[in-house]
Amino acid sequence: MAGVDYQPLLDEIAAGVRPQIGRGAVASYIPALAGVGIGHFGMAVADIDGQVAGVGDWRRPFSVQSISKIYTLALVLAEGGEDVWRRVGREPSGTPFNSLVQLEYENGIPRNPFINAGSLVVTDRLLSLTGDARGALRTFLRAESCNRGVDFDIAVADSEAEHGHRNAALGHFLADLGNLENDVADVLAHYFSQCALAMSCRDLALATGFLARHGLRGDGSRLLSVREAKQVNGVMLTCGAYDAAGEFAYRVGLPGKSGVGGGIVAVVPGRCTVAVWSPGIDEQGNSVAGVAALDHFTTLTGWSVF
Ligand code: GLN
Repeated sequence: MAGVDYQPLLDEIAAGVRPQIGRGAVASYIPALAGVGIGHFGMAVADIDGQVAGVGDWRRPFSVQSISKIYTLALVLAEGGEDVWRRVGREPSGTPFNSLVQLEYENGIPRNPFINAGSLVVTDRLLSLTGDARGALRTFLRAESCNRGVDFDIAVADSEAEHGHRNAALGHFLADLGNLENDVADVLAHYFSQCALAMSCRDLALATGFLARHGLRGDGSRLLSVREAKQVNGVMLTCGAYDAAGEFAYRVGLPGKSGVGGGIVAVVPGRCTVAVWSPGIDEQGNSVAGVAALDHFTTLTGWSVF
């Protein structure tokens, strides 16, 4: 809501989560992420009118990882690619974000767009629609975050490509089951780049504003229809925290999307977006201090969707 002073709230949350910072572990299966200090904490709130407030490391870029899955999906829908829903479902998977098992007995249709298999299909669709999924994504995120510095961290993308056997397996499995249109290597390269986007809590809170504004971009133009924005928020609520989506709904009660870099973005429809970062993640891949901060946020404000 315009005019709210978020600063005292953010200061209180930052103090409240201090014992949680440093808990969990930094994702080390992507070697380039292993060196990030576990002690960081940042949080930002962006109002629907574009005002931003933050605390801690809220201006420091980090690897957004799976948070990027929101934006590829939104761009596919914005480009008229609703037919992507014939190739990916909308149900929580209940399995880890990088799991292969459901694909075989579900005919290569990933459960949802926010697990790796589903996002590979969405990225594939964006590649077909735009020819340059990376460019489309970067242009959009730079505009929405009002930050021309938003970019891919090539070292992180290369590191993941080098060690990304599981994602490569998912890509080849999808191709074998007839659910990729483009070359597997191309889809994987775009997927690793999108995951390697470096953005701050400030950037992410602003860039996700279209989901709080029922589909409108920061400049007032329409990205998604009201229905599509509602639908993306719905899928975030049920699938945005992988096999901990139920726990996230229980504790936070907002549409949200996490990434193994320790970031989480959450949406309060009609009001604001919140981004939080702390690199220590739990076994499901969600930031320990980040979930705690969002739990405080919705408890102190009463702004859970419930
Ligand atoms: N790049 C990561 C991977 O594919 C993204 C996963 C995540 O953030 N949950 O494994």
